[in-house]
Amino acid sequence: MNAAPLKITLTNLSRLSQIDFNNLGFGQVFTDHILIANYAHQGWQSAEIMPFKDLSFSPATSCFHYGQEIFEGLKAESLPNGKIGIFRPYDNWKRMNQSASRMSMPEIPEEIFIDGLKKLIEIDQAWVPTGEGQSLYIRPFMISTDPSLGVKSSQTYKFLIILSPVGAYFSKPAPLNIIAETHFSRCSRGSTGFAKCAGNYGGTIFPANEANKLGFDQILWLDPYDLKTIQEVGMMNVMFVIDNKIVTPSLQHDTVLKGITRNSVLQIAQDHGYSIEERDLSIDEIFQAHKQGLLKEIFGTGTAAVILYVQSLTYQSQKIDLNTANYQIAPFLKDQLIKLKKGLVEDTHQWLVSV
Ligand SMILES: *Cc1c(COP(=O)(O)O)cnc(C)c1O
Repeated sequence: MNAAPLKITLTNLSRLSQIDFNNLGFGQVFTDHILIANYAHQGWQSAEIMPFKDLSFSPATSCFHYGQEIFEGLKAESLPNGKIGIFRPYDNWKRMNQSASRMSMPEIPEEIFIDGLKKLIEIDQAWVPTGEGQSLYIRPFMISTDPSLGVKSSQTYKFLIILSPVGAYFSKPAPLNIIAETHFSRCSRGSTGFAKCAGNYGGTIFPANEANKLGFDQILWLDPYDLKTIQEVGMMNVMFVIDNKIVTPSLQHDTVLKGITRNSVLQIAQDHGYSIEERDLSIDEIFQAHKQGLLKEIFGTGTAAVILYVQSLTYQSQKIDLNTANYQIAPFLKDQLIKLKKGLVEDTHQWLVSV
């Protein structure tokens, strides 16, 4: 796949000086530039870095109606050597193309996703925050753009990258109280759970709000196939420490997002001699392990929050309480991963791509 050469148009009025870097929040502030690439006639026609701006579309634009939309989320940090380290962008690029294939959308060439991203970050490098817990959140996404109400693959698409300097996801991450959901489901086998497509998220907002009203922070999603098999927690992968092993749902049913944080955490754990298991895991097994005193930790993994600890898990009339102050493995893995992203421990797997 050959991409058109990257065109660059720079802003003559940076907004950087107006930004309060002590109050970034998450995904609220965007850098001066964006990348937009256009697909038509079965090929990528153009790719351009340009000043951040609003876009206008026909009200009939297909993504508004049938949701051919996919996205990615990754981060970059400033490194001690003055460069900027993008964490595992090739993995996000590959995953985005797997999502594209599932949603019948075109794959994005490396020249646009990787080279375009590097150039965009180079241009907006002054926006990469340097404060404690801060990073540059990168949001690549693709939409279908045919102005037509037919339910079919669009012939035209736009791929975009926007950049957002973010603070720590939660300034002090409170441990989570979660509930295993036995009525609503996130996705079924054969559906789009493994793809990062918009439709997977819209449907989870109502159940999440209902759980919030009951005092829970996030939902533990169960596979509707048996309402037992654990999938994920909220929009994070989930891990359990059982009998000193790190156990996490396998990816075999296509219902679990292939988290890059999940993969990184499992790799770091193995590098440090921990045993890991990727397999089917039922909610009953978790409660059984807890009764036997074998369940030590529950935590979620994802780019936005890195690792969040779970302090309670409710399932029907049963509840597990854990004291996260006693957690040992999750804090160790979190610390290692954060240091690795910041270039403070050796990057033995060549996960950082520096600009
Ligand atoms: C993005 C996402 C994750 C985490 O993936 P990372 O690559 O680690 O950020 C987990 N679950 C869902 C449903 C997601 O959308």
